[in-house]
Amino acid sequence: MKRLAILGSTGSIGTQALEVIAAHPELFAVEVLSAHSNAVLLTEQAKRFRPNAVVVTDTTKYEVVKRALSNLPIKVFSGAESLTEVVRWDSVDTVLGAIVGFAGLHSILAAIDAGKEIALANKETLVVAGEIVMAHAAEKRVRIIPVDSEHSAIFQCLAGENWHTIEKVILTASGGPFLGKKTNFLVNVKASHALQHPNWTMGAKITIDSATLMNKGLEMIEAKWLFGLKNEQVEVVIHPQSILHSFVQFNDGSIKAQMGLPDMKLPIQYALAFPHRLQNDFKRFNFRDFNKLSFDQPDLKTFRNLALAKEAMEKGGNMPCILNAANEIVVQAFLTNRVGFLEMSEMIEKTMEKISFVSSPSLQDYEHSDHEARIYAAELVKNGQLSVY
Ligand code: NDP
Ligand code: MG
Repeated sequence: MKRLAILGSTGSIGTQALEVIAAHPELFAVEVLSAHSNAVLLTEQAKRFRPNAVVVTDTTKYEVVKRALSNLPIKVFSGAESLTEVVRWDSVDTVLGAIVGFAGLHSILAAIDAGKEIALANKETLVVAGEIVMAHAAEKRVRIIPVDSEHSAIFQCLAGENWHTIEKVILTASGGPFLGKKTNFLVNVKASHALQHPNWTMGAKITIDSATLMNKGLEMIEAKWLFGLKNEQVEVVIHPQSILHSFVQFNDGSIKAQMGLPDMKLPIQYALAFPHRLQNDFKRFNFRDFNKLSFDQPDLKTFRNLALAKEAMEKGGNMPCILNAANEIVVQAFLTNRVGFLEMSEMIEKTMEKISFVSSPSLQDYEHSDHEARIYAAELVKNGQLSVY
């Protein structure tokens, strides 16, 4: 029996993880659930899964959650610091990091510190502070099992292989809803268009990141740290059908891929059950339904966020942290129709130019850069003078 802390249980990954858990009550027990402000869903989940504790990080929601669970033996905590405490409990074996954004970093670091196994969906943790996170995990002998589908694919391809024999990894990207479009089209798109992803149903932030290809840029940085690769060993290919979830090419030229229908429950289940595979009734891929699986180069000129993320990866230091912070701000602004689709790249680039570069940042430096970059990007959004197209 694995006892789990599900951080971000009310999100897209969190709710799908609970479906996986509900299908295998003999294998998984829920010890902790956390949400930011969705008190209604959090209490519903708590009544069903009976964790030892719930954390609602938005402190204004504490009373309502506390009252709703007052008849049950479930501890209720509030505030971001509570997350870093509950993940350390002896009764927790594995922590699923499914919070979105920089907000997920500290609880994962605390869980690593306490020696917990990590199932990691929150890619921003590795984008921002991958070097520190992976070094800490190595020191504590903590396993980080990827949940992100591309990284799960690579991880599955690496089973039984020597990681030193990786020549390169190739991440597949669906291309999102605007694949093949040019700037004259993108200049007019609104959040409602960008939220229509062709293959995956996900939280709002990652759905916008998929439409801008920032998601793939973040995933390149995530892959670099997870698998200990050099920048030039991480590539991206557009694969609109999202059936091949990524490739590993080994030093003898052999390529392995993992494939299946796009359904996040599979990588979530793989990460939670690792090292075992569990039988399930998820829909199966049928070759007859796909007479063509295609591959293409990403259009870095149109989808500049991917180029910016590559640049940040190559520059290193606090640059990916700055990129991520600016991106979180502009995506939020785009979702509320305060900036245009193409302006997002402009504002991220300007923020990367503005914030001081630190080549070997400490955790404090990352916090500082994140803070500075958010303030600067928010100012750009407020002034909104960047309509260059
Ligand atoms: P969602 O937006 O659907 O869910 C985010 C979760 O985090 C919710 O439970 C939310 O609580 C909580 N949360 C939001 N802000 C904070 C905060 N400041 N402090 C604490 N908790 C917070 O996101 P997704 O599930 O789509 O994504 C989660 C992570 O997984 C992201 O890093 C994403 O990149 C990654 N991922 C997601 C995939 C997907 O298919 N969705 C695929 C691969 C990776 P509340 O509901 O109360 O707001
Ligand atoms: Mg992914």
